[in-house]
Order: sequence, then structure tokens, then C-alpha cells
Amino acid sequence: MEEQTIRVQRCETKKEKPQDDQLVFGKIFTDHMFVMDYSEPLGWHNASIVPYQPLQIEPSAMVFHYAQSVFEGLKAYRTDNGSIELFRPEKNMERLNRSNDRLCIPPIDEEFALKAIKQLVSIDRDWVPHTEGTSLYIRPFIISTETYIGVSAAAHYKFIVILSPVGAYYKEGLNPVKIAVENDYVRTVKGGTGEAKTGGNYAASLKAQEMVAKTGYTQVLWLDGVEKKYIEEVGSMNVFFKINGEVVTPKLNGSILSGITRLSVIELLNHWDVPVIERRISIEELYEAYQNGQLEEAFGSGTAAVISPIGELKWGDKQMIINDGKTGEISKKVYDTITGIQYGHIEDSFNWMQ
Ligand code: PMP
Repeated sequence: MEEQTIRVQRCETKKEKPQDDQLVFGKIFTDHMFVMDYSEPLGWHNASIVPYQPLQIEPSAMVFHYAQSVFEGLKAYRTDNGSIELFRPEKNMERLNRSNDRLCIPPIDEEFALKAIKQLVSIDRDWVPHTEGTSLYIRPFIISTETYIGVSAAAHYKFIVILSPVGAYYKEGLNPVKIAVENDYVRTVKGGTGEAKTGGNYAASLKAQEMVAKTGYTQVLWLDGVEKKYIEEVGSMNVFFKINGEVVTPKLNGSILSGITRLSVIELLNHWDVPVIERRISIEELYEAYQNGQLEEAFGSGTAAVISPIGELKWGDKQMIINDGKTGEISKKVYDTITGIQYGHIEDSFNWMQ
């Protein structure tokens, strides 16, 4: 297939950029966005970078009714040598296509999509904040736009990429979070859409999230959707536990999102010869390890915070205070290494940056 060209229409007036110290997550968007359409028999076409603007979509567009949509999340970092770099973006494009497959959305050309993202970031490069810890969040997504309210896979889609400058997640070093194990609601089940990055999973998670927030917990730890026995993941993070010297993370089972930070943590631990194992782990086993004094560390991994140490885990009326509620050694080392690579303080010996 002949590669498409990307039409570029630049904005006439540039928006005012926020100060780095005033950035909050996901509220401000840059001057431009990427848009591409899908229809048969053309396939993906009309690739263009245009001024950031509202979309004109009919109310009957299928995405509003049956939620056939997918998204991704990655970041561009301003590194020590002044270049702007993306962290393992090819993995996000692969995952986007896996999500597409699950949601019956036609696949994108991963290389072309990445090229479009790079060009968009390059055009809006002045929006990448300068302060350590800040970044430009990249949100690629696909929505079904066919005007039809019958339940089926749509015939028309839009692939869009928007950019948002985001502040430092931690202003004063790693900060342990309090997490509550969710016993009533479930996020997904085996055979469901848990492994796909699709809006419905997040809509389904809001209720539990809202309930725990009222009691002072930051996010929920999801258990499997059938027996509510095995640990899956945290709200928007994968999860790791250090038990008796060995790092354990739930094995991908079709309902857990395959995090790119998770993969990077596993690769780093392997590289350091720290024992790390992907397996099923039940909440009972975790609690027993805690009671025996063997639960040494717990942390979440995700693009937003990279690493979130877990200082407290609540399971029903049981409370686990992990590592005295402080950031553990592995959490700190993994965080320092990944962020060091992202901001160019540490040599990228894994070739993660583009
Ligand atoms: N699980 C869920 C449900 C998420 O939304 C995210 C964030 N994308 C993650 C895990 C972590 O994935 P990643 O490391 O690719 O950001």
C-alpha cells in the first residue's frame, strides 16, 4: 500500500501556554491535532494535522450509543540534551491495534500512526514543558462515527491524536498511596474487554473509585471478576509485590491491561537479576505474606506516575501497612531508572527512547 501524506494546516494564532508549575493533568490542549478518517473502500485516509478544534459529529454517530472506541496514553519528554523523546511508543501502537481487534475497529498502520504522532509533537514542540517531571501527554484515540443506531461494528471511524502538557506527578519525591481492595464491583471478566484500552472499562470503574475516594483511598485494587479472589490491577496501574525477596506481578490473563511500564519494570528487574515472576496471586496469599512479615514492598506502575509505592492496602476490615508506609527500595530504584532514561540523565541502554 502506498504511504499516505499528511496534510498540514497550521493555526493562525497560537494559544497562550501555561507556566510549568501551574500544569494539572489533562485540562489544556496544544495548538494542533492529528485526524484521519476511515471508510470503505478507501480504508484510512485524509491524514491531516489541523488546528485543535471541536469535531462535527452527528448525534447518531455510533460511538455515542455503543461505545465502540479505543485509546492510548503516552508521553513526550524534554531530555537533558534538549531533544524531545517518546518512551517505547511502538508498544502503544501495538497495543492500540490489539484494542482495535477486540473492539472490531479496523487496524491502523502502526508505523504511519507513529510517524504522524512524531510530526504532531514536532509541530507543537514548544508545548513540551521544561521542568523536570513534566511532559507532554499524547492521547491517540479512535471513535466510530458512522451515523447508525443499530448494534454492529461501524463502517466509519476517526483516528485522532491530541496533546496536553502535564505537570510533575510527584513534586517532592515519590509519595506512597493508599489503595482499597474492591470486593463488590468488578472491572471486567475473563473474555470481557479488560485487556483492551477502551472507554467502557473506565466507565465501569468509576462507581467503585468514587466510593473508595470518600474513605480516603486513592484507587481500588481490582480482583478477578469471577471468584473475586485473584489480584488483577489497580485503577490505572499494574501492580507489583515484593514477597520474601521475590517480586511478583499478576500474570496477564486477558482481563488485565498489558502495561508498557509493567513490561519495562519486568525487563529492568530481569536485567538486575532481581527475581521477578508473573503468576496468579490471590488476595489471601498476599494477606498471609503480610501477616508473616514477608510482604516487603508493593507498588503500581503506569505512564502517569511511572511508579506509585503502595503504603497501605485495605481489604475489607483488614489493613496492611507496607514497609511502614514508606517508599521501598525497589520502587525507588525502578522509578529513578525509568525516569532517568526518560529525561536523558541515564544512558538508554535498552533503546527505549525515540
Ligand atoms: N492498567 C490500566 C487499567 C491502565 O489504564 C493503565 C494506564 N494505561 C495501566 C494499567 C498502565 O499501563 P501503562 O504502563 O502502559 O501506562
